[in-house]
Amino acid sequence: MNIEMIPCIKCKQDMPKLRLEKYGYKSCVNCSTTGAYRAITTVNGEGDHTWNDIQLMTPEQYDSYRRLEASTRGDKPIPEFNNYDEDDGSNLQGPFIIQEFED
Ligand SMILES: [Zn+2]
Repeated sequence: MNIEMIPCIKCKQDMPKLRLEKYGYKSCVNCSTTGAYRAITTVNGEGDHTWNDIQLMTPEQYDSYRRLEASTRGDKPIPEFNNYDEDDGSNLQGPFIIQEFED
């Protein structure tokens, strides 16, 4: 099979044309800023009518889910880490700064 390639708009490396035509991505996998999706299992219903399900989440949804879960249980807030893949250069304190939560 011959895969037609086009240049990534960021790094100019070849990427499959299908990536743009079918999924609308203009950049290659390496240049993508979309994080990995997460999944959680949920328990639904009760008694004899209990079932498990899987909920897919974007990284942002998963983050807010974890915060909500922690605050519901009364846990301490989960420390956040800066995402240095998207660093804008404004933080000069070095990697892995733990940030305080704001409500
Ligand atoms: Zn690229």
